[in-house]
Amino acid sequence: MTDEPGSVADLIRTAAEAVIDYRAGLPHRPVAGPADRAALLAALGGPLPAGPTSPDRVIDDLVVAADPGLVATAGPRFFGFVIGGSLPAATAADILAVGWDQVAFNAISSPAASVVEEVAGGWCKQLLGIPASASVGFGTGAQSANTVGLATARHQVLAAAGWDVERDGLAGSPRVRVVASVERHATVDRSLRLLGLGNASVRPVAAGPQGAIDINDLAKVLADEPTMPTIVVLQTGNVNTGACDDLRAAIGLARTVEHSWVHVDGAFGLWAAACPQTRALTDGIELADSWCTDAHKWLNVPYDCGLVFCADPSAHVAAASYSAAYLTGAGTAGSPSDYVLESSRRARGFAVWAALRELGETGVADLVARCCALARRFADGLAAGGVEIVNDVVLNQVLADFGSDERTDAVIDAVQREGTCWLGGTTWRGRRLMRISVSNHSTTEDDIDRSVAAVLRLAAGL
Ligand SMILES: *Cc1c(COP(=O)(O)O)cnc(C)c1O
Repeated sequence: MTDEPGSVADLIRTAAEAVIDYRAGLPHRPVAGPADRAALLAALGGPLPAGPTSPDRVIDDLVVAADPGLVATAGPRFFGFVIGGSLPAATAADILAVGWDQVAFNAISSPAASVVEEVAGGWCKQLLGIPASASVGFGTGAQSANTVGLATARHQVLAAAGWDVERDGLAGSPRVRVVASVERHATVDRSLRLLGLGNASVRPVAAGPQGAIDINDLAKVLADEPTMPTIVVLQTGNVNTGACDDLRAAIGLARTVEHSWVHVDGAFGLWAAACPQTRALTDGIELADSWCTDAHKWLNVPYDCGLVFCADPSAHVAAASYSAAYLTGAGTAGSPSDYVLESSRRARGFAVWAALRELGETGVADLVARCCALARRFADGLAAGGVEIVNDVVLNQVLADFGSDERTDAVIDAVQREGTCWLGGTTWRGRRLMRISVSNHSTTEDDIDRSVAAVLRLAAGL
């Protein structure tokens, strides 16, 4: 190419080539190794530049300096947290979104971004079994989606009790209780703190042997204060075990109290609904009032992207929207910014739209089924090597025990240093466990077999 050095064309081609090389190398590079923070600081740090640097030099330096500190989360053998990879079309669409520099605030700031969110949001509802009439917001992740869902819940249960929380705040309001499992995701607690409900508003419900909510205990907790405005938080996809709450039974119980709102945190697990083999785990999903899920986990779009859905769009808007005289088109239901915490916002819909077009309905179902099958293969391989698998592998999560807390931590540490694959640890029910999550479209049976072999070899060498 003969682009002028430092021109936008030159820089974008350089960046694209760097991304292409990086991604081509993903299956072969160590997934992660102990990063040399001092070397990274030396390469990237120093004083604030006193004046300009030519842009081509900036990008060349960044590509070289950042590389040793990159983690191959997009690659096929990263099994930590619940990190999906990023699908080819979704990755390229996100690059377009950045290049186009669209503000997904509303239909005026970017008609294309606004329409694409409406379309992709509709496709997601169809795949996830959420009513077509529900509203959708595209935010940064499940943390922000949980916050918006719970803000809407707070609005509605207090409105039903005659209180306008948007106008009057929480000082002097009726008390609200939040009924949630002891194994809820920690982001729920942060959302409750930010919403002024406080962590003490939680009435904890026991979890069953696999980590799903205990329905009998839920009934007991709900019966305790049956007239108090009540938000019930359920979970599809326990971050440790993958267990899913019995939504139909739990939501049936929630409806027996006077004013209730049911929010489902399905950051990764909600995608079980998109696959015939796992759909039963989400039975009753359509009965909830609000839902949160991530697109950047199991749908494999690049970071960051989380979705919130509400069965009652007017409650969603009442809780989340704002208006100002100079903002044409804001504050009227249907504007994308009315459903999220952000105002100016990255156009996340393009990547979701591209992922769903690339995969189609059968492709999403295959992605979910394949990850679940590969998680079982990982578990079976470890079990055949004498490792105890602690959970029922119902979804894409595996918990493994190598004999003692100390030994399990030592194996995890050795695997993380060696670099064939990356997986993390967790403490579940008082035990240190290896936690494996299979959430990437590009992972193959060979990736699993190589990873199992590495883990067993490293464990035997301790
Ligand atoms: C990952 C996760 C979250 C938080 O998601 P972010 O996208 O990191 O904000 C919340 N709930 C569950 C069940 C999760 O797995």
